[in-house]
Amino acid sequence: MRRPFVAGNWKMNTTAASGCELARAIAEAVPTSRDEVDVLVAPPLPYLDCVDDELAKSAVMLGAQNCYHEKEGAFTGEVSPQMLADLDVDYVILGHSERRHILGETDEDINKKVAAALEAGLGVILCVGETLEDREAGKTNDVLAQQLSGGLKGLTAEQLAGGTGGNDDLVLAYEPVWAIGTGKTATPEMAQEAHAFLRSKLAEGWGDDLAAATRIQYGGSVKPANAADLLAQPDIDGALVGGASLSAENFLPIVEAAFAQV
Ligand code: PEP
Repeated sequence: MRRPFVAGNWKMNTTAASGCELARAIAEAVPTSRDEVDVLVAPPLPYLDCVDDELAKSAVMLGAQNCYHEKEGAFTGEVSPQMLADLDVDYVILGHSERRHILGETDEDINKKVAAALEAGLGVILCVGETLEDREAGKTNDVLAQQLSGGLKGLTAEQLAGGTGGNDDLVLAYEPVWAIGTGKTATPEMAQEAHAFLRSKLAEGWGDDLAAATRIQYGGSVKPANAADLLAQPDIDGALVGGASLSAENFLPIVEAAFAQV
């Protein structure tokens, strides 16, 4: 049984004060006794520390939205996985479609980051997903296969599984680009098909055990109204939530929909 995993990606939103208030509301709803579901919030980088303080007495984990692949050095403006680990970050989101399509990150860049983050002991949420153009051209599976093999190139099943059952494993997020921030959601059937395909590719490349153990989140306009149907699909193991993670009122019902699955 894969433990459901709901993550909130705050992107470049909130202030220090509003971010901490949001973290506090989420932390209160997920005390340490509620650990059957993994819950994570990924605030903007400058707020990691203060959000971490708010999460201290809860089961909610801390996420980052990006990192660089080097440990240290003359890389102005970048942040290393070691620095994130130092700030108690559990998982880092890599390969988000906004970083691929707005910031121009390639599979090669993302691959270096995934390897560096895992080596630093962080968990990784690796995002993959097709554009509308890809889908309409019947290329969805090709794009997913390419982003998966490109992002995980050179990494072994042992590295991807994480060492100790702690928060240092690979998690995938299937995020169709056309569904992110648009209000359009993949139907549960469409998402299930993509998730099953990704799992089959994991099995092909890294073996059945890793494929069976790896959580695959769905992301793309997840909201309270559609979360339960998506999470009920056999290969959907959680959600990566953007817009709806910016208010406790919207995020917590999604978290509760995941608890209802266990
Ligand atoms: C995301 O940012 O990963 C995302 C899925 O955004 P939204 O939920 O707003 O579509």
